[in-house]
Amino acid sequence: MSRTSTPRDPYEVLGVQRDASEQQIKKAFRALARELHPDVNAHDPQAEEKFKEAAEAYEILSDAERRATYDRYGHEGLRSGGYAPNFDGFGSIGDLFDTFFGGGGSPFGGRAGPASGDDVAVAVEVDLLQAATGARVEVSYEAVERCEHCRGNGAEPGTPIETCERCGGNGQLQAVTRTPFGQMVRRVICESCHGDGRVAAQPCHECRGRGRKARRQTLEVDVPAGIADGQRIRLSGHGHAGEAGAPEGDLYVLVSVREDERFVREGEDLITALDVPAPLAALGGTLQAATLQGTAAVEVPHGTQPGEVITLRGQGMPSLRGGRRGDLRVVMNVVIPRRLSEEQRELIGRLQATLTEENMRSDESMFAKLRRALRNQAA
Ligand SMILES: [Zn+2]
Ligand SMILES: [Zn+2]
Repeated sequence: MSRTSTPRDPYEVLGVQRDASEQQIKKAFRALARELHPDVNAHDPQAEEKFKEAAEAYEILSDAERRATYDRYGHEGLRSGGYAPNFDGFGSIGDLFDTFFGGGGSPFGGRAGPASGDDVAVAVEVDLLQAATGARVEVSYEAVERCEHCRGNGAEPGTPIETCERCGGNGQLQAVTRTPFGQMVRRVICESCHGDGRVAAQPCHECRGRGRKARRQTLEVDVPAGIADGQRIRLSGHGHAGEAGAPEGDLYVLVSVREDERFVREGEDLITALDVPAPLAALGGTLQAATLQGTAAVEVPHGTQPGEVITLRGQGMPSLRGGRRGDLRVVMNVVIPRRLSEEQRELIGRLQATLTEENMRSDESMFAKLRRALRNQAA
């Protein structure tokens, strides 16, 4: 390898977080490899170099011990521990894939046995009240399903399925490719039988021999009470059909919770602001605060200060895992009257003239007051 500069951070190369799981690392590498594979990326002279870099990064991060060494000591630590990446010795990129993904593991789907179906994702939106009570929503999505006409085998019913002539039933062909490492022989999936080794003498007219076809599905999905924005619900087996004999993929329902301008959600708690006219804050009184289901009476004690919080227990969101419901925190937004009339101005003037130090004294220290004033400003 002729690279002279310091090797890049393998996490950065694969584009994964430092706490990425084994699965995530494998997935990231597989995606990169697909993109950079010289067979598909002949136009980019740097693809080969980038591919090697990705393979090196993967070799470090896929080995728990090596990864731990790298995490603690970096590339230096790996070198002094005797590890030197050496992909020139592999001979072919096809071999690389075999090494990483097991025999026959071409990145283009060459594998033994029928493939299971892919997952499908569909998005739904609920409002905050639905998120609090739970809701049943209908989702509609396109998914591939088994063709009923041919029962998934791709042949018109009553017609034979024959051994593929092109590959002699192997499902694979040998292909000679020119690579940066020289000529190499690679096995590729037979395009006539798509790897089955068998083809229908008369392809099914419903699915044109594919055994599967896309159909719009609708499904009622229960969104559980307490769901948060961005969470997803997995419905196993509701994704695309697999090849004959293989399981279906899953359906992922991505839930977004519409913003409700009256509330801010903080875990299971809800926060709302209540406008309190300054005189009422001074005298005390009852006001209606917004709740999820409507309104609730809130007793505002006399002498209430801006930013004080009155907690309505159990009026927040339910917990997804069950257990205690969250609270509704009502923040006192004391409003100083504006645009006073002549009469109001005079009334407040008279009040102002009577105020004594006793009226203005609080139980808080100067420091606590400052802190609270700053907090209110930030809110
Ligand atoms: Zn069919
Ligand atoms: Zn074939």
